[in-house]
Amino acid sequence: MKVIFYMTKPENLLLNEKIELKSFLFDLITDDQNKTNFSHMIERLIRFLKDKTEADSVGLYLYNKWKDRYILEQSTEEIDKKSSKYSLLNDHLKEIEGNYTIKGDVLSRASLWEIPQGKADLIVLLKKQDNRALKFGFIYFEFNEGSLAKSLVEFLELVGIEVSLLLESWKRYYGSLNEDERYEQLYRVTAKFHSSMDMDDVLGEIIHTLKEVYPSFDCLLLLSHDNSSHPELPICELQYGSESANQAAAQAYLTGTVQFEDSLLNGKSILYAPLKGKQGIYGVLQVTAPNTHMFPKQEVGFIELLANTAGSALENAQLYQQSRRLISDLQLINKTSHRLNSNLRLNETISFMTEQITTSFDAEEIGFIMFLSDGKSRVLGGSSEYFLSEDSQQLVDFINKKIKKENDALFIGDLTLDESINEKKYRSLMAVPMIQSDALIGAVYVLNQNPYHFSFEKFKLLQSLIHHSTLAFTNSMLREELEKMVITDHLTKLYSRNYLDEKIQQSMNFDALGAFLIIDIDNFKLVNDTYGHQIGDEVIIQVANIIKRSVRDHDIAARWGGEELAIYLPKASLEIGMMVAKRLVNRVAAETDPKVTISCGISFWTKERTDSVKRLFNRADEALYKAKQSGKNRVVIYEEKVD
Ligand code: GH3
Ligand code: MG
Ligand code: MG
Repeated sequence: MKVIFYMTKPENLLLNEKIELKSFLFDLITDDQNKTNFSHMIERLIRFLKDKTEADSVGLYLYNKWKDRYILEQSTEEIDKKSSKYSLLNDHLKEIEGNYTIKGDVLSRASLWEIPQGKADLIVLLKKQDNRALKFGFIYFEFNEGSLAKSLVEFLELVGIEVSLLLESWKRYYGSLNEDERYEQLYRVTAKFHSSMDMDDVLGEIIHTLKEVYPSFDCLLLLSHDNSSHPELPICELQYGSESANQAAAQAYLTGTVQFEDSLLNGKSILYAPLKGKQGIYGVLQVTAPNTHMFPKQEVGFIELLANTAGSALENAQLYQQSRRLISDLQLINKTSHRLNSNLRLNETISFMTEQITTSFDAEEIGFIMFLSDGKSRVLGGSSEYFLSEDSQQLVDFINKKIKKENDALFIGDLTLDESINEKKYRSLMAVPMIQSDALIGAVYVLNQNPYHFSFEKFKLLQSLIHHSTLAFTNSMLREELEKMVITDHLTKLYSRNYLDEKIQQSMNFDALGAFLIIDIDNFKLVNDTYGHQIGDEVIIQVANIIKRSVRDHDIAARWGGEELAIYLPKASLEIGMMVAKRLVNRVAAETDPKVTISCGISFWTKERTDSVKRLFNRADEALYKAKQSGKNRVVIYEEKVD
């Protein structure tokens, strides 16, 4: 029905009980087994008290300073520590202590309160030798029925005194109270750490655990490399090496040992525990204990253990993230090299690279620059829009100059800080030169509008990517340059297409008319498929030779591409073109082995109307298409559209 708080008073003791209690306690403390086993001793004590008082259950609760709560140390019954009774007791104890402090007096049968379950329970407050009853402990007696005998109450007064003394003398055990509970916590944390490879999760869990175990402590994580995002966690960057740096924290970080900072002035004490992994130290855990001059030593071991666990968890998470990054870096390089070696046209190669860099580096503009032998440079097709426009001229010139001077990559966090350039839009820059056999061939420029946008790791990756691609780049740049210079085709010994272009342009400038033929071998895929590529090549050569024999010296027969050939007849009329074409169609059909046929499209131009090489080509191409459509092995003239 009611609960009585009873403060022990050393009066009116019953002699018999006094003797009995004393002898029991004497046995208890002289029993060797108990010296090393605190809980065993407590267990025996409360069992003795239960027998003596005929209570239904007895429990010893001790105050934990760092949790600011009374914790059940031992009970004669199983008590769920999270049960409502447990927290109810804690709440009431605080309430009573509040009263006690206000009165500033000894608490004696001071408060009564009803427990909802309707039992008459009794609480004996323990008090320290300095006569302070606050925040030490209590013994809880639970009675299911009956009122309490006066003698029993007086006996319990004595129990209160004796147990208080006993506990005080057992101080060295006091520190290890609730060890089990804490290691259980540590176990839970460790399991959680190792189930997560996410840095933020790990950091959050460290803080959470410390808050739970030590609600009165202040915790702060000082990390040496903090690049995760967790605005809600108490995390700072660890400073060391500077004047203003926290010396004790730096010391903990550098030596890997726990450091203390006891501040008499501020009445608080700080512990710094390094977050140690197998390969290094990742930061420092700072724990501040308020209202104390000395950090509670018995807590150091646990915090240190927690910090070490956190250190290896951080290490794991970091290694995992690193390896993921490495894998994706390698994948990027691998994919790019593979692509570059598949002999794309330069333009396609650059478009591909531009796309890759845009996504992998979160870049906004990418420019591929080729340095020419005359000291000039050219932005290559396939670069992003900004680089292909006039707007980038000034910036490109500036970077070109710098790259040429330093012959090294550039990593600039904020371009606007450099007064010698007038760049407003783009602020972050990475520029990597392409160097082949000690010669500066070209460079790649990567931009973003945000300042300090690219990480140093990304910069390193870009360097390695460009380094791996330079050879393939150089080759395809050289190949295209060469292609332009070479005037004969290697396979057929006909003229190259570039040469043909040039000659038609010249003829259009100086002559009055000309005819143009495009020739495509019919069903050539079938030839390749039936006889193989080598025979296919031979057939192309056969056709080329027939053409060479069928045209005049100043006509230009060229390899247009693949199995397509073209002939330009300067100063020739359409009729002449027609004649040549028909002759070719017949000869090819008659003379090739294996036999193939050709289709031919013809176009022509005269001075009378404006024209261009490109239009001349297109018209012939259209005629060729019609020849193919209408059955192949024939000649089709481009029909002039009358408008
Ligand atoms: P069509 O009658 O429509 O022209 O049919 P086709 O099979 O000739 O088709 P198309 O002109 O589109 O294909 C040409 C094929 O010629 C494709 C390519 O594999 C092959 N080819 C292109 N250049 C060469 C070459 O230099 N040597 C060999 N052996 N084959 C080539
Ligand atoms: Mg073709
Ligand atoms: Mg063909």
